Amino acid sequence: MKNTDLLARSLAAVWHPCTQMKVHATLPLIPVARARGLWLHDFDGRRYFDAISSWWVNLFGHAEPRIGAAVAAQLAELEHVMLAGFTHGPVVELSERLTALCGGALGHCFYASDGASATEIALKMSMHYWRNRARPEKTGFVSLAGSYHGETAGALAVTDIALFRDAYAPLLRAGATVASPDARRAEPGESAQSVAERAAAELETWLARHHAGTAALIVEPLVQCATGMAMYDAHYLRRARELCSRYEVHLIADEIAVGCGRTGTFFAHEQAGMRPDFLCLSKGISGGYLPLSVVMTTDAVYEAFYDDSTARGFLHSHSYTGNALACRAALATLDIFAADGVLAANRHRAARLGELAAPLADLPQVRKLRRCGMIVAWDVAGADASYARRLFAAALEHELLLRPLGNTVYWMPPYVMDEADMVWLAERTLRVMQAVAP
Ligand SMILES: *Cc1c(COP(=O)(O)O)cnc(C)c1O
Repeated sequence: MKNTDLLARSLAAVWHPCTQMKVHATLPLIPVARARGLWLHDFDGRRYFDAISSWWVNLFGHAEPRIGAAVAAQLAELEHVMLAGFTHGPVVELSERLTALCGGALGHCFYASDGASATEIALKMSMHYWRNRARPEKTGFVSLAGSYHGETAGALAVTDIALFRDAYAPLLRAGATVASPDARRAEPGESAQSVAERAAAELETWLARHHAGTAALIVEPLVQCATGMAMYDAHYLRRARELCSRYEVHLIADEIAVGCGRTGTFFAHEQAGMRPDFLCLSKGISGGYLPLSVVMTTDAVYEAFYDDSTARGFLHSHSYTGNALACRAALATLDIFAADGVLAANRHRAARLGELAAPLADLPQVRKLRRCGMIVAWDVAGADASYARRLFAAALEHELLLRPLGNTVYWMPPYVMDEADMVWLAERTLRVMQAVAP
């Protein structure tokens, strides 16, 4: 199929996500023919450096041979079987390995296919836990200002991004929002830890008043990604853990974006030296190969559902829960972390990315250049409503896939860049930033 055919047919038949389709009356879609490593290739010999890991999912580049081989081998044995009443090797092995990665603290894994479903599951499990423990009044949820936890109705109710949420307000059960510990909110001379402490104090005040009706606090550990890569000090997570325990409120860590090594440790919450009651993973967990999400929780939560009564059980399900191919892709992904020493190699990569990004801060429009592990972000002062789209288009002309979040531009690249790749990325990004006026 030729480029132009695909383009017209896609616009006629496919409703694209997170898109006002009319934008494509002027901005062309990019038909991708194939992808290898860091690069997406179209049909006409053009290529694009995937600096955002195809929406934060692709960890080890495209067409990673080991993940491909593992999925192919699994395909020859068992592609899928329903997980109610049945089990299989990949789902058992994956659950055991994920549990081992959190030191056994979260011993039970529940599966779904996307991030939003993982959020739904964590919310439902938390509320149902309190119901089973004779605390049926604990039904509320609290999240951080600017939070993003997915776009199904339950997940959107704990998401605080007006553009995604406002149109559906009548559909949503309003939750409460407390201050974000976003380090950009620092007063002159104030440390990130002090901003975190201020936000924690607000959480404390809120919980003191509302804990009796609250099931859980849900947070994106260390980086609130979708709102604009809002990074914050781990101190907030330590305080949130302590407050949630004190006030008998669950702590849900949504690591859908920040898990799987993105912030420097395998799980972001490790940097706070604590464990959540629920941990949501998706996006990178299958290396970007197949849709998979998982909610991990504690023995204490699991035991509250374990009973002779069917209705006290967690009856939630999805048709593809625990899909064998997706679990196999996830196992291959974990194997690569171990075999390639990915976390250690990323410490070097992340530090280099930080150095290479530094010249961006000299541009007059750039503010708050920041980094957390393998995420580098900066804000653009004076950006108008069309800035993100204009920067995206200009980046493509420079063989670069960048997709700003409003006035925040960021890198969230696969963990396979060498020195030359990183230098290229930084040079091209600087050129694109110079070419596009705010
Ligand atoms: C992407 C994301 C989700 C939603 O995942 P989907 O697979 O897109 O439904 C939830 N929470 C966070 C933090 C995310 O980044």
